[in-house]
Amino acid sequence: MWEYIGQEQIFNYLNKARLNNNLAHFYIFQGQKFLGKKSAAFYFAKSLFCEKGKKEPCLKCKQCIQIDKGIHPDIFYLEKQQEAKDITINDIKILKDKLDNKPFFNKWKIAIIEEAENLNIKAANAMLKTLEEPKGDAIIILLVNDLSKIPATIISRSQILYFNLVDFKKIYNWLIEKFNLKRDQAREITHLSKGRPRLAKIFATEEEYLAEYKKITYDFLNLFDNSVEINQKFQYLDSLILNKKSFNEKIALSKDLIDKWQTIIRDIFLYKIGSQDRIINYHLRGKIANLEINPKKIVELWQETSNYKNYFLEQNIDVKLLLENLLLKI
Ligand SMILES: [Zn+2]
Repeated sequence: MWEYIGQEQIFNYLNKARLNNNLAHFYIFQGQKFLGKKSAAFYFAKSLFCEKGKKEPCLKCKQCIQIDKGIHPDIFYLEKQQEAKDITINDIKILKDKLDNKPFFNKWKIAIIEEAENLNIKAANAMLKTLEEPKGDAIIILLVNDLSKIPATIISRSQILYFNLVDFKKIYNWLIEKFNLKRDQAREITHLSKGRPRLAKIFATEEEYLAEYKKITYDFLNLFDNSVEINQKFQYLDSLILNKKSFNEKIALSKDLIDKWQTIIRDIFLYKIGSQDRIINYHLRGKIANLEINPKKIVELWQETSNYKNYFLEQNIDVKLLLENLLLKI
């Protein structure tokens, strides 16, 4: 069984290459967050190591289980250390040493690098060296959300597999069948996940995550009420405890926050142009429908929030001050 839905074309492609002995040494799995790139990489690894040797991994043999538990000796997973700004050359050196050793099971060695856009320049150069001298038994998979942030020299040496958004109907049925959700819940979460299966799974299984998301977006939507005063906007921001984290964490948290705000801004716009069937915050549709706001202002707000997320937040300025400024534009 495929562990999640969608992306079957990618697994079929890799599987064919495996059966034809035609696997590449370097792959880039490209696609937005939450599409299941990491699961696909591990699932593919299982299909290479599974003792049953069928098209799909059995998920029950020793190899499959070790991979699931993250203790397989020939599979290495690398991600940015939590407090670090990026993936460093030292991280890559350690990984390279592991790949240089003989495989434990005499098959493959697989490195999976999460959010490879976090490689800093030195690390990317070290990675490039590894790519230039491929080892026969090593496969490196870079998981990438944004291909434009990966050096062209790395891209040109890799095979790129593109992950797509999954059809709403597929996600809806999956939520009902696999997670036993009621129809209303499944519909709500299908919309919230925007075609991203892993996000749907998180919303379906982590109650707190769903509740927090709903609270942040509901409170944000309330700020559009004309009677809201400035200090209420600032209180809203304070309640999100931005001042209790390190700078890097603050940036990450702020971007995440703006992503959530943008779902509301996007939904208001969709309602105004009559495309409400694709709104994300389906559970807030009544409130959004009743909102009186100039569509031009909504477009401006979208651009502003994008500027803050992609540019201003990178400028080493007081994050809280920036976000306060942004809220004043509502
Ligand atoms: Zn197996």
